[in-house]
Amino acid sequence: MNIPTKSVVLGTLLGGAVGDAMGAPFEGLWADSIPSADSLAAAFHEYHGYPNGQYTDDTQLTLATIKSIVEQDDIIVADIARQIAELWRHHSVIGPGGACTQAAERYLTTDDHRNMGAPVGQAGNGTAMRTAALGLWFKNKESLIPLVADISRITHQDSRSVAGGVAIAMAANQMSSASDINPHSFCRVLADACRDINSEMAELLQQLPDYLNDASVLDFIAHAGQRIPEFDKPIITPFVIPTVLASIYSILICPDSWIGAVTLAVRLGGDVDTLGAIVGALAGARHGIDAIPKNLLNCLQDSSNIEVLATRYHLAIHAQAEESGE
Ligand SMILES: [Mg+2]
Repeated sequence: MNIPTKSVVLGTLLGGAVGDAMGAPFEGLWADSIPSADSLAAAFHEYHGYPNGQYTDDTQLTLATIKSIVEQDDIIVADIARQIAELWRHHSVIGPGGACTQAAERYLTTDDHRNMGAPVGQAGNGTAMRTAALGLWFKNKESLIPLVADISRITHQDSRSVAGGVAIAMAANQMSSASDINPHSFCRVLADACRDINSEMAELLQQLPDYLNDASVLDFIAHAGQRIPEFDKPIITPFVIPTVLASIYSILICPDSWIGAVTLAVRLGGDVDTLGAIVGALAGARHGIDAIPKNLLNCLQDSSNIEVLATRYHLAIHAQAEESGE
């Protein structure tokens, strides 16, 4: 792959944070209760109890992961687990999911990063919400897959969640490096990356392009991976399979616009801070920092610290690429 530019690394980390903050006020709502795309793009909406532009756990866990990588100058899974658990030690997590909380609490009592992940059966999106930026680190897919899988297992042992983490990292890798995005070949790369981890996720990713322009696409996505759908109307629950499909759907429907892809994702309803975080990062990996509207970027909480971290991450990616002779 091409080594990502500074603009792409900034776009991925800040784009994820902005998308997270755009969706946060509307987490759990049905699609028809969420404001128009124009309204979402105009300004951050009020997020009860927090300043406008506040991001949540999705960004916090992403930043903890990247902080570990820049401090260690490498991917050390045990240190990423420690950094993630530290967020819970300091009670600083905003809107955490159950599996991540269980995992962090287990780590804080055992110091064991290998067995902290929530058990099989808990297949939430707490992996996919934090892995996009990892897709920029890797030069080749062969090394990306097992390491992102191990990083995903920190919080979730269920193979669907692990596959979701890998799929989103691979999506960012493709978004930042592929010359053009063809839905069928894009989804095939993602499916191939996670097939050995979870074949159901792979099959559904491979089917997604056939539904893109079909009236049933949102039913397909919302009900994917469930024998008995939880809701009649389409809504994106925190289950990892619909989350990943909805994220990929958003970037494929709006391939040329950061704000178009993110507002589409947030307006799907359900776990929309996570959708905003993932799609904001993927679209940022594609279009770079300048594609993110300044009116939002300028009002993002903590944006200067994220920018500093992203700059360090960019330098670390380059140093790693030089070391390996690329
Ligand atoms: Mg969140």
